[in-house]
Amino acid sequence: MSKFDFAPMPDTDGFFGNYGGQILPPELIKVMNDINQAYEEICKTEAFQNELMQLNQDYVGRPSPIYHAKRLSDKLGGAQIFLKREDLNHTGAHKINHCLGEALLAKFMGKKKVIAETGAGQHGVALATACALVGIPCEIHMGQVDIEKEHPNVTKMKILGCKLVPVTRGTATLKDAVDSAFEEYLKNPDEFIYAIGSVVGPHPFPKMVRDFQSIIGREARQQFNDRHGKNPDIITACVGGGSNAIGLFTAFLNDDEVKIVGVEPAGLGLDTDKHSATMTLGKPSQIHGMKCYVLETEDGEPMPVHSIASGLDYPGVGPQHCYLKDIKRVEYDSVTDDECLSAFMTLSQVEGIIPALESAHAVAWAMRVAPTLDKDKTILINLSGRGDKDADYVAEKLGL
Ligand SMILES: *Cc1c(COP(=O)(O)O)cnc(C)c1O
Repeated sequence: MSKFDFAPMPDTDGFFGNYGGQILPPELIKVMNDINQAYEEICKTEAFQNELMQLNQDYVGRPSPIYHAKRLSDKLGGAQIFLKREDLNHTGAHKINHCLGEALLAKFMGKKKVIAETGAGQHGVALATACALVGIPCEIHMGQVDIEKEHPNVTKMKILGCKLVPVTRGTATLKDAVDSAFEEYLKNPDEFIYAIGSVVGPHPFPKMVRDFQSIIGREARQQFNDRHGKNPDIITACVGGGSNAIGLFTAFLNDDEVKIVGVEPAGLGLDTDKHSATMTLGKPSQIHGMKCYVLETEDGEPMPVHSIASGLDYPGVGPQHCYLKDIKRVEYDSVTDDECLSAFMTLSQVEGIIPALESAHAVAWAMRVAPTLDKDKTILINLSGRGDKDADYVAEKLGL
């Protein structure tokens, strides 16, 4: 028996302990509750489950393998490092897992348009892909700063037939894109659906996105046990909004022997104002329709956050992570931009795997910890995505 019992989370109001909920005007609470009801009905039907299962297999390429990074483990001289290869999914990251779910849900609900924000462009590409597959119009809002940094993803979204809306307000990054996309959604919430890109926003999104992503941990737990007859000692993943992390963690939450660590971006350092370590330095507050830890300025505005990985620079974080931190089931640590870059290059040159800068945060944390552990210990990293999108940026940054 585990001392934790996570099955019933969140409660019927969408709370994980003190976090989550629906911090919205009453008319929007009704819209969200309709989505929740449709989701609860539809996701239990055999038609929905079979279609999603088949697409996960034939279209995404699931199950994604677990790879033993032997050369990296040997080089570090400590714990054995394993990678859950979400980078091998169609579209190159874990985001396709929830995008397929959300696009299918939109179809089953008869919606006319899917709207979303994107940071690094990964959610945009994954959603545009899923909408092309399902046959629903798609509109993506993206910060101008990110548009310039993530050119290949911008091109892909256009090719995939979605409408791309550049956002120039504020810092012109992820948070501003969320605001802009939400405004468009509010124009007609009956016919549109908002497809949030992580386990954030009002209930039921943190629950739905988690459910769609939790296939990562279900597969990983089975695969690791089939191969080794036990669970990994440590599992870890990077945390932006927290979807790839909760996707891996969920299946292991009741396995008390497994240490679980989420890794946040410390950017230029936790003692500067250029980071995005929400769980480490944020305070309980609210943002984008939910209660969660938030990085705020002295006058209570969301802080302009920074990470070398666009997909991680968000001043809020998924409510379930906040709860898991408070009850001490999951630990949250951080790595800097420099450590991330170094891990990015090391994994590329020692294993021939170019990771996304986001995922390289989790790799960097494992590289820091592995040498302090015995060789029979195991660390499973969720390699949330591949680094093709970051290659030019890194080359320029390092003068390659
Ligand atoms: C978007 C993204 C992330 C961050 O989002 P989470 O919701 O925290 O998982 C991490 N890795 C990759 C590859 C991404 O594209």
